Amino acid sequence: MSVAAGLQFETVIGLEVHAQLLTRSKMYCGCSADYANAEPNTHTCPVCLGLPGAMPVMNRAAIEGAMLTGMALGCEVPAFCKLDRKNYGYPDLPKGYQISQYDLPLCINGVLEFVSGGETVRAGITRVHIEEDTGRLVHRSDVGGDVSLVDLNRSGVPLMEIVGEPDLRSPEQARDYLIAMRQILRYIGVSTGNMEEGAFRCDANISIRSVDGSVVGRKVEIKNMNSFRAVERALRYEEQRQREAIVADGVIPQETRGWVEARGVTVSQRTKEQAHDYRYFPEPDLPPLNVDAAWIAEVGSRLPELPAARLARFVSEYGLSADDAGTLTAERKLADQFEATVGDDRGSAKSVANWIINDGLGLARARGLDADQLPFTPEQLRELMAAVSANELTMRAARELLPQLGEGESPREAAKRLNLLSLDDNDALSAAVAATLAANPAAVVDYRGGKKAAIGRLIGETIKATGGRANPDSVRALLIEALEADNG
Ligand SMILES: [Zn+2]
Repeated sequence: MSVAAGLQFETVIGLEVHAQLLTRSKMYCGCSADYANAEPNTHTCPVCLGLPGAMPVMNRAAIEGAMLTGMALGCEVPAFCKLDRKNYGYPDLPKGYQISQYDLPLCINGVLEFVSGGETVRAGITRVHIEEDTGRLVHRSDVGGDVSLVDLNRSGVPLMEIVGEPDLRSPEQARDYLIAMRQILRYIGVSTGNMEEGAFRCDANISIRSVDGSVVGRKVEIKNMNSFRAVERALRYEEQRQREAIVADGVIPQETRGWVEARGVTVSQRTKEQAHDYRYFPEPDLPPLNVDAAWIAEVGSRLPELPAARLARFVSEYGLSADDAGTLTAERKLADQFEATVGDDRGSAKSVANWIINDGLGLARARGLDADQLPFTPEQLRELMAAVSANELTMRAARELLPQLGEGESPREAAKRLNLLSLDDNDALSAAVAATLAANPAAVVDYRGGKKAAIGRLIGETIKATGGRANPDSVRALLIEALEADNG
């Protein structure tokens, strides 16, 4: 039996996030950074094609996006930073180097606080630095043999790297860290955070050590995880693999492994001996950055209320449950829409929350809308709720109406169009009550014989007969009136 058997182990995880910065142009040239639907190699110029002699020019918006990210994560922004060349060769990198930051990054020493498994976790942020994206290789077998095509539209798109301290202790914490990080980037508007489209990517470092410190496993880097779920699955697999290896013979090679989604395993990609030597040196074509206090203050003034603070405020200010507040603050636009609907009428907050969470989000999902989009405006929801309060619409009719509401259409107009307005105090309602009484003689006899509960069935039948347009209180009153009157 090895020395490791019988010991208690813990998992140590640190994450590196690469996020594309949402800017109009690329990092070091004027080409459009919006390449999603572009023909290959149409958003290029001598700078992002890496042609000799082309001179890069810094994108101020990209720097400020990364600065804002650092501030949202509580980082310091040092007064001086510089850019460095990271040298390596690959077909998607025509320059043969990336302009990145090595020893003096833009932001340092932050923290990300998030909730995981009901507990608040504080994970250190080592640094946030700026760099540029590479091109893309497209592998094809339908153009005369197996070929790899190069598309350089993405080459030079602004990218930031957010390096986290190895403060995470489980795959679940790693997933929740990423969810919280992505939420912040979307809140401050610096990145779409879209993982499927590659705008938000993650590499993980994971190792195992015994709690008493007597056994410390080597760090393994995991790549190629393309969703939050993939990150959690890959790390869970790796955690188990490393524990078994340590208990069996105590040795884990330091290496880079790739997650193979289809097989649910990680496989070795390269060992420490094959690791790159990037031979960083200061970028000679760009001046260092002097970040003065006025610039920091100006960028800092753009920081909005962040998700955790907003969640806490929704609980204290509107009396919402933490769950509901979490759902409503998951996306900034959704939280904005909630507050715009509530307006000055604080008393309506719980009701507005219920409408958005129970009806709005389900409807948005069914229509394939983005997570931050609702299929109605604050004005529409306010009018709908007012119509329910005024007994012009029953709750049931209002819920039926919502999915049929046209863009910009008044809910009252829609109710007329769909014949959903309440039938209160009119002949149609009296007729419906009379028809119900005639069709349910047994219930009538029960009620008149003293079984007052029989009225429940009569109310239900009447409401059904009106297509949900009758107000239950009005129906009850009319039924009692009719039942008592003829009981002489
Ligand atoms: Zn360009």
